Amino acid sequence: MSPRKSEPSFRESVDLMFNRAVALMDLSPGLEEKIRVCNSTYTVRFGVRLRGGIQTFTGYRSVHSEHMEPVKGGIRFSLGVNQDEVEALAALMTYKCALVETPFGGSKGGLCIDPREYDDEEMERITRRFAYELAKRDLIDPAQNVPAPDMGTGEREMAWIADQYRRMNTSDINAAACVTGKPINAGGIAGRTEATGRGVQYALREFFRSPEDMQAAGMSGKLDGKSVVVQGLGNVGYHAAKFLSEEDGSIITGIIERDGALVDDKGLDVEAVRAWIGDHGGVKGFPGAEYVEEGAKVLEKACDILIPAALEGVIHKGNAANIKAPLIIEAANGPITFGADEILREKGTVIIPDMYANAGGVTVSYFEWVKNLSHIRFGRMQRRQEEARHELIVDELQRLSDHLGDAWSMTPNFKQKYLKGAGELELVRSGLDDTMRAAYQSMREVWHGRSDVTDLRTAAYLVAIDRVAGSYKSKGL
Ligand code: GLU
Repeated sequence: MSPRKSEPSFRESVDLMFNRAVALMDLSPGLEEKIRVCNSTYTVRFGVRLRGGIQTFTGYRSVHSEHMEPVKGGIRFSLGVNQDEVEALAALMTYKCALVETPFGGSKGGLCIDPREYDDEEMERITRRFAYELAKRDLIDPAQNVPAPDMGTGEREMAWIADQYRRMNTSDINAAACVTGKPINAGGIAGRTEATGRGVQYALREFFRSPEDMQAAGMSGKLDGKSVVVQGLGNVGYHAAKFLSEEDGSIITGIIERDGALVDDKGLDVEAVRAWIGDHGGVKGFPGAEYVEEGAKVLEKACDILIPAALEGVIHKGNAANIKAPLIIEAANGPITFGADEILREKGTVIIPDMYANAGGVTVSYFEWVKNLSHIRFGRMQRRQEEARHELIVDELQRLSDHLGDAWSMTPNFKQKYLKGAGELELVRSGLDDTMRAAYQSMREVWHGRSDVTDLRTAAYLVAIDRVAGSYKSKGL
């Protein structure tokens, strides 16, 4: 559901949130405007010969800020794509990258299309043609603009884009770094597909490490046993719900999808629901759970944590007052309108904002880009050496244990666990966890450290804008 007509558009919402934050800052005159505005938006209309005729498609690539290059951000395939949305998403990418310290400016792209209407071969032709239009204007380029997956796109599209770029730039040794989110066998990195959902999990873990922050939401305890409602079981929502239920003991009590919602206070089996959607095209008919036709109503269900992981503007002035969850984590971009944000803040709801909560994707994209530029898999040089050093310690412990007899022995599994050197997936997870923890701490320092900042979103904007301003200043602007 999109925000009501009486509410500002998505881009205006992002600008209003930005303005609320800069009002608390002391930026040099004009710098605020320079950071806020979108640098450029390229619109392309191209034709593709399909089904005996020519179909025309409209696509966008918006560059919000080039204070660092390349600029970074996904490409979305959806019928809802428009210039306003792409610009809002590009702005969020600027702030997101600054907050999690990935060395990129912000960008975003979109193609107005319903991918479900086309078969694989047609999608490949359309995607390659769009990539060609962007690449020939340097809007896909390892040094200038590096797209990634977003709603409606995934590793399949990224592989086509990478291949298209390579065909157009046959001697570019860094061609693989022109796009991230590629399949592993096409230059991708382990853990990129799950990265955004994994980042949501790490963000929640960090929140639950702080009794003070839990208290702000009127909560206590651990993630274990907390009830969670998730909206959207796409890549992000699915991974977040899966990891939280399988690894942290959270109970998924509601899943909202396009055709309605499923509710079960005892907990829904995320894998089973995902498989059901794959086979039946929606959640309706899933056995053993209550089906609610008006899915959006389930956003208002009492639960501990609400995870909107679908579209923007789903929590608006019309339903914000009814939201009961004390903690909302924005896995989607812009799921809460500016008006709804005000209502929720007044109610005391704690919101972990999108620019932080879903930054796991771009963080692992950064690792992938670095891997592509360095032309070597993470861990390849160190892994066996690390294992050999661990083996030395284990051998010594074994000698000690043999010597002491029954008095001391190694814990079962210790040897096996300790001996295993970190491969690429372990390193990616470690880098992502470190990033999510550090970014959370930088937000919370501002949240708790300043009396004029009462929410995490404003804190996130303050940290991000300050960093972007710092990089403009060092450039002499
Ligand atoms: N589309 C994702 C986002 O909104 C990922 C962007 C990227 O990896 O560059 O953050």
